[in-house]
Amino acid sequence: MKYVNFEDAGDAISDEVYMKEALNEAHKALEQDEVPIGAVIVSGGRIIGRGHNLTERLNDVTAHAEMQAFTAAANYIGGKYLRDCTLYVTIEPCVMCAGAAYWTQISRVVFGARDEKRGFSTIGSRLLHPKTTVVNGVLERECAELVSSFFRNKRG
Ligand SMILES: [Zn+2]
Repeated sequence: MKYVNFEDAGDAISDEVYMKEALNEAHKALEQDEVPIGAVIVSGGRIIGRGHNLTERLNDVTAHAEMQAFTAAANYIGGKYLRDCTLYVTIEPCVMCAGAAYWTQISRVVFGARDEKRGFSTIGSRLLHPKTTVVNGVLERECAELVSSFFRNKRG
């Protein structure tokens, strides 16, 4: 007999809710002519960190959305580990951000669209902490479209 796992269904719904928050962050980047990538960190149903890409404004190649969000969440918690937290990010984290995620020991990483060129999974998933679970493809189309239209407009 097949049955619905309501806990999983609930997760899927809340994943979309929080990914929309990450998309809001991505729009903030877009408004500043930054590559539109956004992130939020959630713990116990509460957003404890937000970030969007600021590499141009800060002249800092490390100012990725995830890095901003990790720092904000650690400040909120008052500790460096994010063990009971989920990172929502619109685009697959790069190798640098996956490495930072490792150090935070974050419980879950949920991303929208893959980054075929710079995404961490291009070199394998061992970059993340062994306890970190990964979900991808949440609001994938919206997340990908935001970035691809940004680059289309740049070229145009
Ligand atoms: Zn990154």
